Formats: sequence, C-alpha cells, structure tokens
Amino acid sequence: MSDYQLSTLAVRAGQVRTHEGEHAEPIFATSSYVFRSAAEAAARFNETEKGNIYSRFTNPTVRCFEERLAAMEGGESCVGTASGMAAILATFMALLKSGDHILCSDSVFGSTIGLINRYLVKFGVEVTYVKPDDNNAWRNAMQDNTKLLFLETPSNPLAVIADIRAIADIAHANDAYLIVDNCFCTPALQKPFEFGADLIIHSATKFLDGQGRCVGGAVVGSKQLVGTDIFNYIRSAGPSMSPFNAWVFLKGLETLELRMRAHSAAALDLARWMERQPGITQVYYAGLESHPQHALAARQQSGFGGIIAFEVERAREGAWAFIDATRLLSITANLGDTKSTITHPASTTHARITPAERERAGISEGLLRISVGLEDLGDLKTDIERGLAAVRG
Ligand SMILES: *Cc1c(COP(=O)(O)O)cnc(C)c1O
Repeated sequence: MSDYQLSTLAVRAGQVRTHEGEHAEPIFATSSYVFRSAAEAAARFNETEKGNIYSRFTNPTVRCFEERLAAMEGGESCVGTASGMAAILATFMALLKSGDHILCSDSVFGSTIGLINRYLVKFGVEVTYVKPDDNNAWRNAMQDNTKLLFLETPSNPLAVIADIRAIADIAHANDAYLIVDNCFCTPALQKPFEFGADLIIHSATKFLDGQGRCVGGAVVGSKQLVGTDIFNYIRSAGPSMSPFNAWVFLKGLETLELRMRAHSAAALDLARWMERQPGITQVYYAGLESHPQHALAARQQSGFGGIIAFEVERAREGAWAFIDATRLLSITANLGDTKSTITHPASTTHARITPAERERAGISEGLLRISVGLEDLGDLKTDIERGLAAVRG
C-alpha cells in the first residue's frame, strides 16, 4: 500500500480479512495456534514456513497494528511491545553489548534516563548525555565504540528541538544508529525516517491510543534491525503487546491525524494566550515565534503537537497551587489523551532522577506541563485562569 497517503494507510494498512468477511479488524484472543500436521509445526518452528506459532511473538491483531504503524512511519518493519519502555529496553538489549557506548539527549523521558543509568550501565554500556539542540556536542561526544544515538524531538516536557538530519549524519559517519522517540509528534506530524533516522520508538500509550486506555509501545525500522534483531529479543524475552491493546491502538491510529491536527491547533492557540497571562514567566512550545528553534520545528514537523510546558511564579508552591485550583484539567502524568492533563514534572515524571540530572534537563520546580486535549478552548482557558489566580495568591 506504499503509494497511499497517511490518512488512507491509517484506516486500511495491515488488515487481512479472514474467511468470515469481517469489516473491522478482529481481536485474536488466542495464546497459541493449531498446526495441520506435525510437519507443519516443525516447519513453523524452524522458520522454513511463515505463520502463527504463539502470541508472545505472532498474533494477527498485533501484526495488523505493526504493519499499519510501519506503513504510516514509512518503515519496513515494526514490532509491538508491552509498553514504550519495553520498546526502548528491547532496542538496547538487541543492539548493544558490553563495551559499547551510547549518546543520549539529556532531555528525554525520565524513565528512559532511569533505564540507562540504573540498568544499562550495569551491563558495561557507557553513556554520554548531550544537549539535544547542540549539534557540536553530539559530534564531539562520538567515540569509536559509539553504537546508538537516542533522542526525543520535541523533548518532554520542554519542547527542545533536535535537528534529526544533522544528528543522523553524525551517527552515520561513525556507523552508529540514530533512534528517535517520536512519541510527541507521531507520524501525523513528523516522519523521522525522511530525515535519516534509523529507528523510531513509540509509546503507543500516548497519542497512538489517544484516549488514555492501554499501555503499549513499538519500534519501527529496517527488516534486519527490527524485523529480525529486535523481534528475536521480544520472542526470547517476552515484553510483547497484548492483542486487545493492539486492537485499541489500531482504532486509535485511524483517527490519529485528525486528533493531532486538533491537538496542535488548540495548543497553539493556548500557548499564544498563555504567553500574555500574568503569573506565567515562560511558555515552552515550538509553535511560538518566540521559541528559539521555531524555524527548525517548522521544517521538520507539519504541526507542533499538543504538549505545552510553562513556568509559573513561586516555584513548587506556585505550581502545586495552580494544579490544585484547576477543576477541569486531570491531575495525571499521562499525556496524549482527548482529556487535557496537567503534570508537575519535578515531583512526578522526573522525580526519580537526581536533582542534578533534573537541573541538567531544565526541569525547574515551577515547571508545569499541559497535554492539551479536545475540550472546548474557552473552558480550558477558564480553568487555567483559576490556576493562575491561585499562583498569584
Ligand atoms: C511515556 C513515554 C515513554 C514510555 O512509554 P510507556 O508506554 O509509559 O512505557 C517513552 N518516551 C516518551 C517520550 C514518553 O512520553
């Protein structure tokens, strides 16, 4: 289906209709599959014949989700995982060995830093953190044993933009791979493969689901890296996506583009308005002309997404007063939902990293993050005004 556009792929790609003629994709709630003969069982297991074996690594509903997301990202292969973190873990486990070195943006999801610092380094993998928007820092940190470069753009939560093309070139000059966590933009707003990325990671939990229901993740990339290397890790280790979750994500993908446009439009309007509100000292949103990397974001993305970070007066006291005064915004760490959410990163998503790591990542005590949902904009502004009145005391 590679000659179709994104919105067509989003509703059509990956579906194989069964003999029942169903229109919607079925959920294959089965852990194993029956073979027609002993010889067929043997052929499936030794991979001389393709087909379903066991749902830890072969399930038609999961495969439909994988093929649809691969088509939407423009990648050859996709592997669904139990969570976004499982997708990151599987990528590291499949592609790294003791003695390797990786570069990681210092502005990535808190658990990603935790995974690297608490577990990956235990197995002899060395890491250097770099500022995502400093191409020279990426170049200078490269070593002979650097295997992977990992980044999120826009970053969570500060919307720092990394230049995917420039960093991919730096990686490839050293035969290393560039991995982009495309969680905030999704293929509806950003196609990292077009700028040279080798692997795309997703937390399907966020915008791919889009309605806050299921936890899942995915890796997209080449037949070798994803279809073989990462697939084989999932097969052995088992952090697989459940068929039910895959089905929810499939349905999410069908409306992804519409939702991302709506989230982006609402967030841009809100961000512009928030810049003018007393009590807010800074707004971080790449769609604002005041954002230092607005031009790069506009080149790399077709929209600016639904996440706004902002700083309020009175540090943690102000931030918590804001949160507790709102009535509509959900106090939850999740994002990418139709329901708008509010988070205080320093005490939640980024609480488990050290204060020094937090400072490095620019997560101040007065920082708040809103994931803009699909509610009425006027209602959202009224709620934010309630929060700001509490900040100002
Ligand atoms: C949430 C998130 C993850 C982790 O995904 P889970 O599904 O929660 O495991 C990874 N990267 C980013 C950018 C995220 O927002």
